[in-house]
Amino acid sequence: MFVFNPVQENTYIIWDETGECAIVDAGCFNQKEFEKLDGFIKSKNLTPVKLINTHGHFDHIFGVEQCRKAYNLAWESHYGDNFWVEGAKEKAAMFGIPIHPVSIAEVELNDGDEINFGNSSLKVIHVPGHSPGSICFYEEKSKILITGDVLFNGSIGRTDLPGGDYETLITGIQSRLMILPDNVDVFPGHGPATTIGDEKARNPFLS
Ligand SMILES: [Zn+2]
Ligand SMILES: [Zn+2]
Repeated sequence: MFVFNPVQENTYIIWDETGECAIVDAGCFNQKEFEKLDGFIKSKNLTPVKLINTHGHFDHIFGVEQCRKAYNLAWESHYGDNFWVEGAKEKAAMFGIPIHPVSIAEVELNDGDEINFGNSSLKVIHVPGHSPGSICFYEEKSKILITGDVLFNGSIGRTDLPGGDYETLITGIQSRLMILPDNVDVFPGHGPATTIGDEKARNPFLS
């Protein structure tokens, strides 16, 4: 996990024994942050084969173009957030943050899709409400769940941005994520990791 950009977003690299890896939410903001990511990939001898996103908010896509080019990858995300990607410059400017334009994903990810790399498989779980195109990635064997801004340690994603909806988000978290085993490790888009069991027991939004 890397914490990148002025919004302190978590970028993840997932890999297995084959050395193939997936880059999730490339949020590296500048050359220095990209070199941190790239340096890690090189030091571990990893081969990036997937470039995927939990959603299209600008804080999660700063590094997408650079990773696309550097690793010659097609970007994959849910098309429900294409309006966020297309409007990234204007939206980021409202927060006083500059961003280079990012083209929408080459590959659309939808609920139930499987993203395969190495010996690993990530299942796509669509949980809208923070944004229309928010998806989570679940690796069943190692019991890891990457939640983007859907579910945080002790909190949930904000629902006041365009395309957000509180009821939709809560319903989605309860019906799609809280049914997973308690010992699933949850890696959110901001802040520290948690588990499904801990969130079930302690998250004030889910009681
Ligand atoms: Zn977000
Ligand atoms: Zn975010």
